[in-house]
Amino acid sequence: MVRRNRNYRHRDRHHIIPRSRGGDYRPENIVRVRELDHQAYHFIFDNRTPPEIIERLVERFWNGNWEYVREAYERNATLYHGRQKGDREV
Ligand SMILES: [Zn+2]
Repeated sequence: MVRRNRNYRHRDRHHIIPRSRGGDYRPENIVRVRELDHQAYHFIFDNRTPPEIIERLVERFWNGNWEYVREAYERNATLYHGRQKGDREV
């Protein structure tokens, strides 16, 4: 549930794997995000799991081009290798 707190420092807790889909309360499954980002995320992706989101993006927006997406992912993974958790604003 998204709260209506407009405090700019407020961060919602978002479950990477939604609780309704079997996600739990472990810290690895919870990220803190700005409220508006959180609302936008669920507006676009509802309560889908990350693999379901990737599948939807590939099939509906990227012409089912799994091979190219896989290659791009591997390039980015190499690019970001060694990045510390929390280095980038969500
Ligand atoms: Zn959420």
